[in-house]
Amino acid sequence: MPELPEVEITARRLDRAAAGAIVESTLAPGMVALKTFDPPLDALAGATLRGVRRRGKMFVVELGELALLVHLMSAGRLQLFDKRASLRDRASRILIRLSDGRELRLREFGTQQRAWGKLLPAAAVEDDEAVATLGPDAYPAPPAEEFVRILAQPRHLHPLLRDQRSIAGIGRSWVDEILWTARLSPFRKGSELDPDEVERIRAACDGCLGGALEHYEEVIGDTVPDKLPMPLQVHRRAGEACPRCGAKIEAVHFKDYVMCYCPEEQTGGRVLKDRRLSRLLK
Ligand SMILES: [Zn+2]
Repeated sequence: MPELPEVEITARRLDRAAAGAIVESTLAPGMVALKTFDPPLDALAGATLRGVRRRGKMFVVELGELALLVHLMSAGRLQLFDKRASLRDRASRILIRLSDGRELRLREFGTQQRAWGKLLPAAAVEDDEAVATLGPDAYPAPPAEEFVRILAQPRHLHPLLRDQRSIAGIGRSWVDEILWTARLSPFRKGSELDPDEVERIRAACDGCLGGALEHYEEVIGDTVPDKLPMPLQVHRRAGEACPRCGAKIEAVHFKDYVMCYCPEEQTGGRVLKDRRLSRLLK
């Protein structure tokens, strides 16, 4: 799932390429992707695409007086194409055809239909439930006092940092990187951290997310590739050597994601029970 740096670089590139374009027509082949019906998608015809920006892990495509709020969920992509989609493209969910022949397309891969868009009056975006409930952006990281308040919850750091209502923009990839950078266990509780540990997480948010964004600015040209070159050090690297201390990176497998960490530096040498393994052994 694209997280803050991936959505941000995509929004920047789409904004650069498409701002000022005029909408000719629209289509929503993915029946369930458009979650609103008033105003209708047709209302976009003739609107000027004013810009594309990010809120949390969502896009806001500003179109005249309206705005399309887009959430990619785990398998969506928001991409600009030079030509119109074939109607046989089964990945198409929402199509915005521009008068210059290009097309802004929300696509989704895989079998599930979870990516969504909401067409709203531009002024109503901030009040939409998905936006209004967001915590502050994880990058740039909130000031120290605010960060202390955000983490002061008796919950494990891994789900806490991924909770968009607490802090916005972090998902399953970057949470591993942030906790590894801060040298903290994913199973520590936010409310149990000392001020130095809180500050390490805060600095790691800036370092990891800001560093990823800088990396993308350098390596990504005008078009964002389907698969972003994510500069990950531990996530998806179970079994490899920790780039900092050389210990073997371990993983805990959950139903639909994997948590990676360095036991040497994050859990006091302890290898955490892998739920997948223990379930298999039962
Ligand atoms: Zn290590």
